[in-house]
Amino acid sequence: MNPPFSGVIVWDLDGTLGVFDQLALWNRSPAQSLLMIQARPDLEAALNELTSLGFIHRVLTMATSRYAEMALATLQLRHHFIAVEGYGQRGKGDVVGIAEEMEIPAQRWGASMLFIGDHPMMDPPRDPRVLFHYEPWAIERSALAVVAMVRELLDRGDGDLARGFTRWHEATARRSWWDRLRFRRRSSNHFEPTERELADHGWMVLVNRKEECPVIAFRERPIIPANPVMIPLPLPEANPIDSNSDIDE
Ligand SMILES: [Mg+2]
Repeated sequence: MNPPFSGVIVWDLDGTLGVFDQLALWNRSPAQSLLMIQARPDLEAALNELTSLGFIHRVLTMATSRYAEMALATLQLRHHFIAVEGYGQRGKGDVVGIAEEMEIPAQRWGASMLFIGDHPMMDPPRDPRVLFHYEPWAIERSALAVVAMVRELLDRGDGDLARGFTRWHEATARRSWWDRLRFRRRSSNHFEPTERELADHGWMVLVNRKEECPVIAFRERPIIPANPVMIPLPLPEANPIDSNSDIDE
């Protein structure tokens, strides 16, 4: 993949980048020192590698932006994301709005945009051209698996994610010129799940859907979950140890 590639990955937050539900207890629980959040294994290495492939990262979540900002700050990964948008700021799956803001022309949406999330209804892009990586077991799988998947898609698609998906789905990577002389392919390949092996990472399922985004997912839960990365939450700054003032505002 020699030409410079410029793409965007839109990440869901909870259950995709980590597990942050204990943030809701922050500044409320008397046992502050026990509060932990969990990061997806190898997340920073994966973000760095994806950045070096030419991707820009954003977070789009149903949570409030304050919650999201604190989650990313605690992970010490906030600087990897150009935008962190939450409840009331942008609707989930907003391909049109993100593309507009980032000046991505419509003919590049499929090639350069990828949505990643652990929820099959909330997290997909709302456009049938843009690929969705569904990962219900994100926290148990190294984020480097995402890098391997993206590399495979870009390699197969000559730098185009959607084309990589189509070619992998059809297993007709790098077709010869004479293949183009073939009679038009059948147009009814709607909802055709196909299983493909990703070297060193196991089986993936690629699903084409009528008028909805294509989906790529690991077929199985990791047999041996990646080691969890637990990070303690910082104590509230205003009242470091004072147990009398942990009344929520
Ligand atoms: Mg989620």
